[in-house]
Amino acid sequence: MDRAAAPLLLWFRRDLRLGDNRALSRAVATGSPIVPVFVWDEAGEGDWAPGGAGRVYLHRALEALRSSLRARGLDLVCRRGPAGAELERLLAETGARGVYWNRLYEPAVIARDRGIKEWLRAAGHEAESFNSALLFEPHEIATQAGHPFQVFTPFWRSASRRPVDAPEEDPGGALRAPAGGLPAGPLEELGLWPDHPWAERVAGHWAIGEETARGQLACFVAEGADAYATDRDLPATDGTSRLSPALHWGTIGPREVWAAVERTGRAGEEGPRTFLAEIGWREFAHHVLFHFPRTPEEPLREKFADFPWEDDAGARQAWRAGRTGYPIVDAGMRQLYEEGWMHNRVRMIVGSLLVKHLLQPWQAGARWFWDCLVDADLAANTLGWQWSGGCGADAAPYFRVFNPMTQGKKFDPAGRYVRRYVPELGELPDAYVHEPWEAPETVLGQAGLRLGRDYPRPIIDHRTGRQRALAAFAEVKG
Ligand SMILES: Cc1cc2nc3c(=O)[nH]c(=O)nc-3n(C[C@H](O)[C@H](O)[C@H](O)COP(=O)(O)OP(=O)(O)OC[C@H]3O[C@@H](n4cnc5c(N)ncnc54)[C@H](O)[C@@H]3O)c2cc1C
Repeated sequence: MDRAAAPLLLWFRRDLRLGDNRALSRAVATGSPIVPVFVWDEAGEGDWAPGGAGRVYLHRALEALRSSLRARGLDLVCRRGPAGAELERLLAETGARGVYWNRLYEPAVIARDRGIKEWLRAAGHEAESFNSALLFEPHEIATQAGHPFQVFTPFWRSASRRPVDAPEEDPGGALRAPAGGLPAGPLEELGLWPDHPWAERVAGHWAIGEETARGQLACFVAEGADAYATDRDLPATDGTSRLSPALHWGTIGPREVWAAVERTGRAGEEGPRTFLAEIGWREFAHHVLFHFPRTPEEPLREKFADFPWEDDAGARQAWRAGRTGYPIVDAGMRQLYEEGWMHNRVRMIVGSLLVKHLLQPWQAGARWFWDCLVDADLAANTLGWQWSGGCGADAAPYFRVFNPMTQGKKFDPAGRYVRRYVPELGELPDAYVHEPWEAPETVLGQAGLRLGRDYPRPIIDHRTGRQRALAAFAEVKG
């Protein structure tokens, strides 16, 4: 085949969109026909292949991408197996001259992709990778001394001084398929969809795909961003963007989010500015993971390596099942299992209870989140769990133990969030909804509730749990 007329493989990974996709726009700009491919390479992600809820979201995002491609006369060729071997086979089958993709930053994926790039180039193929996942790549930002940042505020001050690139144009009609396409293969053959009725339930909570993500962003920027600084902490209120899975799987990209906020002309105001700083936390999480690749398994602060964790399978099970007896915690854990998502404030509260009151290792929490979150993201999840454990970058000090009752009363004062996910407590008056064990028997009776039968008593008394956590922390400090 004439080399110039040879197609390029566009290797989709977690950039499942046609707009603001730099690898795609650069590939199209060469004038070559494009063969869009997706390879489900579970082993290539090391110990952190997507969990159950992530696979549900991925499956649906691939369906949406495939239908956008079909509307333009292309298709998404889906393969399963080691990415390098599958790409090699696809190059041979299509006569493509090379592969373009957008970069990812998880340690195992970096190592795999580096190997693939070297091999492709050595074999005489084009291999080009681009940034479409982040505003700034992890290695671009450094302290004045040239070190990685470990604290968010200076990181963001330094990063946000840089200009953010405008989103890439959607290639529109310039995107064309080669003559004589390949069989694209049914998505079901990838085996992503978990064989459990839970999968359909989680999927039912999400509208998935590039078009919906863009609509969701527009709606949030128009209606939610102004009140974000206050509403973002109220789990019963729809006060955050809920864009985390779209950002993780790339049905939308951060440049587009940034541009949408900038276009309002209000990016400097409190609500939008706070929202953009959260996009900054996403950048920071990737920065930390890139520079400290051991952190998904090990604490960033080394002295925590010997923390005296307890091994209590029963406590972990009660926590996972949303049966700790602390209403705000149980509501969060049930929201997670039901929807594949949990409000950020509640993620912090449930994290604190697991690692502090229950003294269970943060890694156990991270693993459960990994399997249950549609937005499970190695950078953000690791940062969030090390924050909870007090052992990571810019983490909550270990001695600051969240009080679940105070948190509940402050951020869910009327108990609307708790009642939504813990219906057993539905009839309790507001005054007791965050601490049912304080309710007099008559009140419990009127609410149709017997503690220990309909809803558990607290798995551990708050004061006891707090003191035990502080004593454990003192051992590390010493
Ligand atoms: C223990 C724990 C685990 C977490 N695990 C994940 C995870 O696996 N994946 C994930 O995307 N987020 C994780 N977070 C961060 C945060 O809870 C979610 O990003 C947020 O709740 C998503 O909701 P949203 O899209 O409505 O966020 P918004 O408030 O609308 O924020 C906008 C975007 O900013 C990013 N963002 C916000 N907060 C953070 C943060 N603290 N760290 C990194 N990025 C952030 C997300 O991409 C989010 O979509 C975790 C937090 C904790 C405390």
